Amino acid sequence: MSEQEFRRALGYASSALELLKRALIPPYPQFYELLYTYATGVNPALNNRVNEIFREGHVTSDIAERLYNEFLKAQDTNARMSGVSERMSKRIVAVHDAIDSARTTASAYSASLQVASGDLGQDEHDAAELRTLASALLAETRRMQDANHRLEMSLQASRDDIEALQRDLDDVRREALLDPLTKIHNRKAFDEGLAHAVGRSRETGQHLCLLLVDIDHFKRFNDTWGHQTGDQVLRLVAMTLKSNIKGKDIAARYGGEEFAAVLPDTDLEGAVIVADNIRKAIHAKELLKRSTNEKLGRVTASFGVACFRPSDTQSSLIERADRCLYAAKHGGRNKVVSENELARDDLAAVGAA
Ligand code: GH3
Ligand code: MG
Ligand code: MG
Repeated sequence: MSEQEFRRALGYASSALELLKRALIPPYPQFYELLYTYATGVNPALNNRVNEIFREGHVTSDIAERLYNEFLKAQDTNARMSGVSERMSKRIVAVHDAIDSARTTASAYSASLQVASGDLGQDEHDAAELRTLASALLAETRRMQDANHRLEMSLQASRDDIEALQRDLDDVRREALLDPLTKIHNRKAFDEGLAHAVGRSRETGQHLCLLLVDIDHFKRFNDTWGHQTGDQVLRLVAMTLKSNIKGKDIAARYGGEEFAAVLPDTDLEGAVIVADNIRKAIHAKELLKRSTNEKLGRVTASFGVACFRPSDTQSSLIERADRCLYAAKHGGRNKVVSENELARDDLAAVGAA
């Protein structure tokens, strides 16, 4: 690194720290990386988004985390993907080289055999000539065997490598569908899973329900106990959600402190029971701060439950579940509201008007 480059890097580093301080974002490595990237300006899409946010207000930790996941985490996956494909290309070139070299040796061997058969075609051979011919053929045969052995080894190494690459690719693919904080499915996996479940339900006419979950007064919890303790709660809620579903169901972090569960082959009544079990399980957990064992009280969550109808699109189903969730918040939180109750409320509202 030249002195000029070093000075420039130092400039970016101090701007990043300055931005962190100004926005009151904790100086975690990922947030520092985010603002360092912003300061370098190498990712215009990121800069546009951050500028927009600065114009509207300021960057909070949760916004920073979302930006990090969207812009830098994704880059990480892309970098790993291109690393894997680079190794794959190198492997393929190596196999080609080994095959080429084996082919050259095989042609040389066949040329030697032709020369030998030509030599043998002449009438008279004394023992010495035959010995020389035999030992030349033997040497060629050995060379051929060596080349074949090298090819075999190289193919074996390639097979091992390709298997390892395949595992790497599978890992990268799996990670791309996981939320880094809670390790349950992320929004992308949710969107894909719901699209698949909607398609299947349309085909088979089987029930399909959607739960949307939002932690109650989570901002207050974060403000009281800090963002990191808040993150622990997100993990806890994610695990509670995951451990209360089964089989083909999908539990996902929908965004921030919102979660979702896709429940194929489940009717509204069944989905309300699942939701209520999760609600009770979350409420039942008394939270302790890990570092100090301090009691943090409990958190609750509100739930909206909607069932797929043939006239639904993916987004109309989400929207209906979201309206139920809104009604659960409105009705005092720590509640499950299903679309049936929503319909009753709507009717009541019409009746009242
Ligand atoms: P309500 O009961 O109406 O849902 O209130 P709320 O405070 O939960 O809702 P609001 O939308 O006002 O705030 C959501 C909060 O969730 C804001 C933010 O601090 C927190 N949050 C979002 N993502 C994360 C995260 O990744 N980690 C932590 N610790 N907090 C997060
Ligand atoms: Mg929310
Ligand atoms: Mg909330």
